[in-house]
Amino acid sequence: MKSIKFSYILFSCLVSLIVILSNEIKAATPKPAGKQFVLVLDAGHGGKDSGAVGRITTEKTINLDVSLLVGRKLEKAFGDKLKVVYTRDKDKYLSLMERAKIANKSHGNFFVSIHVNSLDKRNRNRATIKGASVYTLGLHKSADNLDVAQRENAVMTLDDNFEETYEGFDPHSAESYIIFEFSQNLHMAQSVRLADEIQNRLITEAGRADRGVRQAGFWVLWATGMPSVLVELDFICNPDQEKFLDSSEGKEKMANAIAGALSKYIASTIGVAAPAIEKNTRTENRVEEALKTQAVEVAEDEVLESTETAQPEVKVQPSEKVYKIQFLTSSKKLRDSAPELKGLKNVDFYMDHNVYKYTYGSYSKKDEAQAELNNVRKTFKEAFVIALRDGKRVDL
Ligand SMILES: [Zn+2]
Repeated sequence: MKSIKFSYILFSCLVSLIVILSNEIKAATPKPAGKQFVLVLDAGHGGKDSGAVGRITTEKTINLDVSLLVGRKLEKAFGDKLKVVYTRDKDKYLSLMERAKIANKSHGNFFVSIHVNSLDKRNRNRATIKGASVYTLGLHKSADNLDVAQRENAVMTLDDNFEETYEGFDPHSAESYIIFEFSQNLHMAQSVRLADEIQNRLITEAGRADRGVRQAGFWVLWATGMPSVLVELDFICNPDQEKFLDSSEGKEKMANAIAGALSKYIASTIGVAAPAIEKNTRTENRVEEALKTQAVEVAEDEVLESTETAQPEVKVQPSEKVYKIQFLTSSKKLRDSAPELKGLKNVDFYMDHNVYKYTYGSYSKKDEAQAELNNVRKTFKEAFVIALRDGKRVDL
């Protein structure tokens, strides 16, 4: 009897211990990325790998300068609501594998890789080609896109034992690229949404020619388990574009465009109003000097900042439902000014089986969406209210 009682007491102690321990573990587990968005910024190439080489500069330098500017602008705008993880913040070599590991270990919410484009030395259009393009992961639809992915993936051949590390992936063989055909669906809607926003801003704000949002098999995008885009800022082989890419003014403009797009995306994900991105008007300085000055100025601006860009309370957690009004479906992605949208603003889309479903507004309560529905129905009779969670349709 005594021993039964003792066992009972021991058993209850054990149960309480397990309960206490499991609560401890819960408390120690990092919270879901509700309040803090983790952005991974990847400056392509570095160290012994210069990337594309121009007459006055190299790709690795431009990538690093622009990435640092983008990161610092966003850190300043979002404060502790954002954690920026840089795969590299100085001129050093990193393999594609190491980049992917850094991104995955940090449990990033988004991976943005920054690069500069170039054409082969024998290409006749080398001196005249220009324009920005933002890539999402997918199977290339044209030889151009495959060329860009092959050139960027080729850096893996700099690693010892690259055949083993990359499990037989041969960056030069078109057949290797088949693996990317079905691999992008999980994060495609979010990736395309940000790609589109960055592309638009690189055109309208940084004055780049428009080579469109594209798809191709970039190994590093495939290896990072999160929404991701790869930005090709412009062509370093074109001397005029190279001058822009190398200039402090150019870097500042491109960084503002990318940071502006990211600001909008991050703010809508964590449920705050998009903070303004501070523009640096001192264009005569080198970017490095501008960055140093900005760091010193933070203290002076702090008082002003706390009132001007104070963050509103977090309203919608990323895993919470948002209500939108769906009004149109399309097999292709539409420009903001597309006639199909009939001038409707505040428009977004989500992907459903490779179809673009266009929505209006974003509300935390169903009633709010319902209240706006009649207005949208004046233009789109068939419009209806839907609920989305993390960009996917869920029950109302
Ligand atoms: Zn590159």
